[in-house]
Amino acid sequence: MHEDSLMAIPEAPPSHGAAFSIFAGLTPRRRTELARLGMQTAIDLLNWLPHRYEQFQNGIAIAEIKPGQLVTIQGLIVQTRLIRRRPVRFEALLEDPTGRCVLTWFNRRELAATIKPGTCMRAAGKVAIYKGRPQIVQPDISIVEDLEPTVKSDGIVPIYPASVDISRRFIAELISRHLDACLAEVGEWFTEDFLVHRHLMTLTNAYRQLHKPESLAGIAQAQRTIAYHEIFLFQLALEIRRYHLRHSLSACKLRTDDQVDQRIRALLDFALTAAQNRVIGDLRKDLSRSQPMNRLLQGDVGSGKTVVALYAMLMAVAAGKQAALLAPTEILAEQHLLTIRAALSASRVQLELLTANTPPARRVDILQRLASGELNLLIGTHALLAEPVTFGNLAILVVDEQHKFGVEQRAHLRRRQANIHTLVMTATPIPRTLAMTYFGDLDVSLIDGLPPGRHPIHTRKVTTPQLPEVYRYMRDKIAAGRQAYVVTPAIEDGSLELASVTTVLGELAASMGPEIRIAPLHSRLTAEARRDTMERFRAGEIQVLVCTTIIEVGVDVPNASLMLIRQAERFGLAQLHQLRGRIGRSSHQSVCILASDDASDGAQARLNALVRHSSGFKIAEEDLKLRGMGEMVGTRQSGLPDFLFPEFLHEMPFLQMIRRDARDRVTRDPHLLAPEHAKLREQVFQRYRHTLLLADVA
Ligand code: ADP
Ligand code: MG
Repeated sequence: MHEDSLMAIPEAPPSHGAAFSIFAGLTPRRRTELARLGMQTAIDLLNWLPHRYEQFQNGIAIAEIKPGQLVTIQGLIVQTRLIRRRPVRFEALLEDPTGRCVLTWFNRRELAATIKPGTCMRAAGKVAIYKGRPQIVQPDISIVEDLEPTVKSDGIVPIYPASVDISRRFIAELISRHLDACLAEVGEWFTEDFLVHRHLMTLTNAYRQLHKPESLAGIAQAQRTIAYHEIFLFQLALEIRRYHLRHSLSACKLRTDDQVDQRIRALLDFALTAAQNRVIGDLRKDLSRSQPMNRLLQGDVGSGKTVVALYAMLMAVAAGKQAALLAPTEILAEQHLLTIRAALSASRVQLELLTANTPPARRVDILQRLASGELNLLIGTHALLAEPVTFGNLAILVVDEQHKFGVEQRAHLRRRQANIHTLVMTATPIPRTLAMTYFGDLDVSLIDGLPPGRHPIHTRKVTTPQLPEVYRYMRDKIAAGRQAYVVTPAIEDGSLELASVTTVLGELAASMGPEIRIAPLHSRLTAEARRDTMERFRAGEIQVLVCTTIIEVGVDVPNASLMLIRQAERFGLAQLHQLRGRIGRSSHQSVCILASDDASDGAQARLNALVRHSSGFKIAEEDLKLRGMGEMVGTRQSGLPDFLFPEFLHEMPFLQMIRRDARDRVTRDPHLLAPEHAKLREQVFQRYRHTLLLADVA
């Protein structure tokens, strides 16, 4: 492999050429302040982009302005005055060839330092008449450079973000003064032809447009151009990573004949849905190759991912290899053990569960059988990743509920177990645009739709006064043979504001009557007690489980068809959807009740989204709208870089085009060795070598 050539690029030192001349003239204090804002190089300065623009269109002569009008005027400051009485008032008299207008600010004492007689500026705002003279209070202003106060018609003024220490005017001047020197440092990544083809500007031109705009259309195109470049670079990193995972690693080819297929299907007590079969088709194709599979399986809560994973694992077992399944919680791992053990009861597959609570002696035994290859299938918690577990001949690793783990953990996984097939599964539907960035290095399969015979869950909101009614309803349902979950945001009565498992347990016991068996479930119980409770709930001996979000993922008790979530506003939208996914798992009509007394817009928007939508994808899109991409996957956790224009990450066609372009380059020139890729190569490694994305390619 060409790893050497790929990684041989020396780390480019930040270019100091222009930076020196720019920063040299500043005081050390200024330099420190700029550095604190992340501005140390010419490129940093260029990337300090205006956060908005003011358009001084159709400038009007002062003689023509009328009270009540919104205007932009331009001229020379001829006189200023600071009136120190409270509220402090600062006045400046602006003059153009036709007249004079007073500009007035309250509590802006500092303006006296920047606005002085002789300053040439534009001001925009609403005209009033004060003591017979036109006046604009708190106008938007910008200092104009040319000293000739002629009225231009299309002035678009960049407004920069500033900090406490550094004013936007200082930054504007710094950038304006050094723009050409900075632009000289940019360097183009793409050929002119290519840019024309994509309706993009050159990078240099785009930066110029953003800092010295000529038109609104120009700004828009420049933003698009920069967005293309930065998203392209990220996609390129993902593609390189993808390419190398595929070509520098190899995994075991697994046999997939009809006999194996029939033997696996015979173990299931239901027929697979079309969607499940389609995904199994993807998996069989992947697993029959020597390139390691690297696939993400997305499917809404309850869509039946487990059985698909089981199929893939049994393909490994049938070939005499080992398979492992990792879950995020012990409860889920235990449940997988029960489900899979039941499915495999008639087979000779050797199956074990390994978690932090496995007794030491048993653990030693399991590890030994794993290493010898005697054990076929291991189920464990993600914590397993942190330990030195040696497999005799592991062929496939399945990671369930992967949504809690970012790009970093995935890379970690790869490092530990390089030459195996991996399947990661998530029930937190990720909007497609997000998936393309977040999981851009994976192939994606989707189970759309639920197993047959499911009814959509009815979801409704209630407030505290309606709870007795809810409890009556719950009692009726239980009398009819169903079971229920009651989810609370806290375990014990620590805080007055939170409904806890303890309080709610008492409340329920009082209102449900002694014949109904209620039990708590939360993380402070011993593993033993939790397992016991889950077993009894599964068996129907316990009818109401009062619990925390411990049941959020994976728990599968089809007879439970009612869920009450107390203080539902305390939970995130995705989390509520996950919780709700614990019901609606049988042909009984399921009902989810969201109790909340929070009337705030944010809370209501989330709860309404749940009432309105049952599809996890719809909910994820709402969530994305309500919270924004950055919030949804914390940058640190996801390994996503900070983008200058993150809003473009929502534009599907744009994103798809960029991804195609990036993939195309990597296919043609996997090591980016062609002369035309020199700049791209330098950029992608400079930026992504240290994030795990490219570091573990080597
Ligand atoms: P999730 O995708 O949330 O992990 P599970 O794999 O836990 O969903 O499946 C949810 C429930 O649906 C389980 O009880 C499972 O046995 C059942 N199930 C899965 N596939 C089918 C099918 N094709 N027909 C009927 N029931 C199914
Ligand atoms: Mg699951």
